[in-house]
Order: sequence, then structure tokens, then C-alpha cells
Amino acid sequence: MRRSNDVKDYIRTIVDFPHEGILFRDVTTLFADPRGFRMAIDQMLHPFAGERIDKVIGLEARGFILGGAIAHQLSVGFVPIRKKGKLPGTTISEEYTLEYGEAIMEIHDDAIQPGEKILVVDDLLATGGTAEASIKLIERLGGEIIACSFIIDLPELGGRKKIEDMGMNVQVLCE
Ligand code: IMP
Repeated sequence: MRRSNDVKDYIRTIVDFPHEGILFRDVTTLFADPRGFRMAIDQMLHPFAGERIDKVIGLEARGFILGGAIAHQLSVGFVPIRKKGKLPGTTISEEYTLEYGEAIMEIHDDAIQPGEKILVVDDLLATGGTAEASIKLIERLGGEIIACSFIIDLPELGGRKKIEDMGMNVQVLCE
């Protein structure tokens, strides 16, 4: 167990993963540390003290770990947004562009009631493609997004600006 109060100190960087030239920011070391995990959840919740949130939505896959803990803390429900083909019920989907090719995110079509206040969570914001597709899905179901919260933003990839330009409140713990 570490003693630092800075989430960055718990995040590991893996060189050349998933392919050469990529610096992968690995939050499994943050999640594995009792102080680090608790601190990350507390810091992600802090801006929303006293605000109404009806549901937490986590983006596959590390957003499920964060979102489950945050939803439990708020005593509200959790909803997953997953990659195509993983959700068993009737879904709606949104396509988005990756570095090479396209991907599709899905949500169950009955997962949100119109007007529900939603907090979106994931581990990392890069180009913002995953978050953008997820925001579109939530808004198509009538959800009102209070904020999108991430542990890490990679500012040089422009995701934060893209999501803010959609009118979103973006919260990050570190860059
Ligand atoms: P974006 O769609 O380009 O913003 O990429 C964000 C998605 O890719 C998130 O779901 C992240 O979990 C994942 N991702 C991209 N790069 C990293 C990384 O360095 N570490 C952890 N996850 C990453």
C-alpha cells in the first residue's frame, strides 16, 4: 500500500501496449491499492456532493469498476455501455471512429427513463470517440447528463474539448 495523496502516483505506464509506440496508462495498479482506489472514487464523487444523480453509466470495461463503486456510494443504479454484441437485451447503438477503423457502442434501450440525471464514468479520455458515442446513446434515451468523469485526460488528443463542445461538464482527476 502506498502513502501518496496523488492518484498519478498509483498509475503505471506500460510502453508499447497494445502496440509499438503507444504509452498505455494502466489504472489496474490504482484499483489494486486500497488507498488509491478509495481516493480515486472519493475524488470522482467530490464535485457532485449535494447534486441529484439518478444513475451512473460506466463505459466498457474499466468504467464498470469505477461506476459500480460510485453507484454504490450514491445508492443509485448502474448501467453499462458496452461494445457491440455483448448486451443480451434489445439495444440501440452508435458507431464511432477509432485510430484504425470503426467501433460500435451499445446500451439497453430500456436502461434509462427520460429526464433521469446521469453521471458518465470511465478511466481515460483520449480522442473522446468512446465518450461521444456514449453521450449520444444516453441522450437518445432522454437521459440528462450531469457530467462525464474520468481519472485521466490525455489533452494532446483533444477528447476533452470535443466533449465540452457537446455541452458537457467534464471532470478529470489528472492529465
Ligand atoms: P477514446 O475513445 O479515444 O477517448 O479512448 C478512450 C477509451 O479507450 C477508454 O474506454 C479507455 O479505457 C481506452 N484507452 C485508450 N487509451 C488508454 C490508455 O492508455 N489506458 C487505458 N485505457 C485507454
